[in-house]
Amino acid sequence: MSNSQHNKPRLKLAAPPTEEDKRRAREELERCPHCKVSADDAITHGHAPNCPSYVPDAAETILNDVAAFLERFVVFQSPAQRDAVGLWVAHTHFLESCSTTPRLSVRSPEKESGKTRLAVVTRQVAD
Ligand SMILES: [Zn+2]
Repeated sequence: MSNSQHNKPRLKLAAPPTEEDKRRAREELERCPHCKVSADDAITHGHAPNCPSYVPDAAETILNDVAAFLERFVVFQSPAQRDAVGLWVAHTHFLESCSTTPRLSVRSPEKESGKTRLAVVTRQVAD
């Protein structure tokens, strides 16, 4: 074995990181550790709703407050029912801006299931 073969590195060295590798690494560092949104998207669109850094906008905050109020007095079969009532309540506050309006249809298969209570509670927050 010659001396030159002895000095050859046994492991092939990894190629140095390219500019693209560096850009990806920087981008990954700038991503939210919870929802993985990029820093730019977080500024423009915000974090995902399940992220601790998520900040609801004013409209969402109001709708959540109305939903929480309704749930204090009425048991809904699903979150979708609660949200439908909450959106209907919000709609009553800008009726003048709408050309049509939906009716809130509240039905139940049996008596004394909370329809009147929903009407009473809804009247407290509807316009
Ligand atoms: Zn996030």
